[in-house]
Amino acid sequence: MKIFHLNCGMLKPFGGKLINRSPARVVCHCILIDTGKELVLIDSGVGTDDIKNPKRLGPMHYILNLRKDLNDTAVCQISKLGYKPEDVKHIVLTHMDLDHTGGLADFPNAFVHVYKPEIQAANKPASIREKERYRTCHFLHMPKWVIHDTCSEEQWFGLKCIKNSKNLPSEIVVVPLTGHTRGHCAIAIKSSERWLLHAGDAYYYDKQIDKKPFCTPGFKLFQYISHMDQKEAFKKLTILRDVINKNKEITALCSHDPTEFESLALTEVL
Ligand SMILES: [Zn+2]
Repeated sequence: MKIFHLNCGMLKPFGGKLINRSPARVVCHCILIDTGKELVLIDSGVGTDDIKNPKRLGPMHYILNLRKDLNDTAVCQISKLGYKPEDVKHIVLTHMDLDHTGGLADFPNAFVHVYKPEIQAANKPASIREKERYRTCHFLHMPKWVIHDTCSEEQWFGLKCIKNSKNLPSEIVVVPLTGHTRGHCAIAIKSSERWLLHAGDAYYYDKQIDKKPFCTPGFKLFQYISHMDQKEAFKKLTILRDVINKNKEITALCSHDPTEFESLALTEVL
């Protein structure tokens, strides 16, 4: 099994060190897994069409300030690694926000795994705020959805989870971690005796999962704006922090922290 960390979208928001560093940099951390049998992608970042026309991302694109470089797309990076884009058989989404789904159209034949409450939120948003975060243009190619809703009897480090369900690859465990969005999940990847946990947007800054957590003022503000259910999101983050700190076999990462990305990108194989 090989694991590659891909930054599928470099965002350059205003705010410098109030966000994370000067100048502020926000990555879209996706993971490519070569199981030996097929390729699995965790999240898809921004896609070819978004880079060509960032206005597809809606009003948020003014804040995100996306780098316009087609080399950032998952499809381009996967080709450079020597794979064919059609070898990507599964894409597993942490959630369906606009910065996680733009690349789906670059892999039209892949099965796209999603937690049921998330696709329900995207299809039937309950508010304008919820409607704005999902971009219908990302789904016009009619993805081959695989919708998961039944949790396994087994738990993942005490958390309810979905595994060995439908055609979800056996190396992948979906851990519902709602709050950021209605159906937000973390995705755990098993490799030998270790676990890699993609926590999506459950947190934004690496020190938020430290035993003594810290968050920059910029991200504090941003998470108040971006979490659909703040109370739920913060409650889940507390639980997640506890699980990560108690179990050293877990390596956690979130979608948007460049420091985590830089340290993990150096290690291709878990
Ligand atoms: Zn995000």
